[in-house]
Amino acid sequence: MTDKPQKPAHPRTMAVHHGTRRSQYGEMAEAIFLTQGFVYDTAEQAEARFIETGPDEFIYARYGNPTSRMFEDRIAALEGTEDAFATASGMAAVNGALFSLCAPGDHVVAARALFGSCLFVLDLLAKFGVEVSYVDGTDLDQWRTALRPGTRAVFFESVSNPTLEVIDMKAVADLAHAAGAVVVVDNVFATPVFSRAVELGADVVVYSATKHIDGGGRALAGVICGTRDYIRKVAEPYLKHTGGAISPFHSWIMLNGLATMDLRVRAQADSALAIAKALQGHPALSGVIYPGLPDHPQHDLAMAQMGSGGTMIAFELRGGKDAAFAALNRMQLVKISNNLGDAKSIVTHPATTTHQRLSEDERARLGITPGLLRLSVGLESADDLIADLRQAFGN
Ligand SMILES: *Cc1c(COP(=O)(O)O)cnc(C)c1O
Repeated sequence: MTDKPQKPAHPRTMAVHHGTRRSQYGEMAEAIFLTQGFVYDTAEQAEARFIETGPDEFIYARYGNPTSRMFEDRIAALEGTEDAFATASGMAAVNGALFSLCAPGDHVVAARALFGSCLFVLDLLAKFGVEVSYVDGTDLDQWRTALRPGTRAVFFESVSNPTLEVIDMKAVADLAHAAGAVVVVDNVFATPVFSRAVELGADVVVYSATKHIDGGGRALAGVICGTRDYIRKVAEPYLKHTGGAISPFHSWIMLNGLATMDLRVRAQADSALAIAKALQGHPALSGVIYPGLPDHPQHDLAMAQMGSGGTMIAFELRGGKDAAFAALNRMQLVKISNNLGDAKSIVTHPATTTHQRLSEDERARLGITPGLLRLSVGLESADDLIADLRQAFGN
């Protein structure tokens, strides 16, 4: 039994109700179907299901599961895509989205400023005979030069990690579509709350649900959103046979996360703006990078594209690594870790952790200096966070 269709509804309403499927017991909360498989009434039914699987029919949990299907339907409705496929992690989603699209001899253009594991996946594509060109994602001329007729896909993070560059999604999508390329966007930093990716031309939107969708740093998960044809005929065959399936338990965690995501992410973004404003001009800092501040190089674009500066801030400390480490070690409320989108505020020193594997030159090129700290703003009081950061930066 599926709840009555909620579309078109306000995103907050859809995030609570959309896609709910109830068993014969009529349970209120979404049920967790912890089962590997499903029983068929007859041999004929089993045969028919392997030929064509209907929306309320399942075969094996690696292929699909009722709890996971609720999560997929709900996030697809929020993102504005026809369908979605949930995965074991954000990286299973990035890997699935790109590998399912590409074949040896294909050409992919990617922005250079990417999460380290995303760079690993692109290097892997190159190993298997896909040509990958890297560009500065904020420079449209570089996209224009790198794209060519027959380019299979473009890939970028709409807001880059950790330096918070904002990519002009509509402009890049127009150039990519003119070349016939599929636009694949890693939209983690923008969050599903502030996303207008599909409206701006993205064909495939990928999330690490581990971040804002969970919102509590509890479980790994990912999701790929796109057209029904792409999801069911391209991404799903790749994922269901290579084993990137999400656990039904994690889908249930993510369903619960979605219900509160809008409230959480908006509160986190409000605090991020308050913190960025309060610490701008602090004597220990040579810069505060936050797309919601008017001095951010893509401030207008960020506002047009997301309507918010988001939940992440980067601080540039005078005094390099020593100053950055001293500040980290003085933080009391803000935890040193590397997740983001959590209810708890988290600070990261990218140069020595998430981006440690890059060469010094590559880090310098990406603006990942020894004094750079990345803050994921949580749900604590903004005043408490500002006080903790001020004392850590040496008032
Ligand atoms: C975390 C993250 C990923 C990977 O997600 P996992 O759930 O950790 O596998 C991919 N892209 C971005 C931008 C991320 O922040």
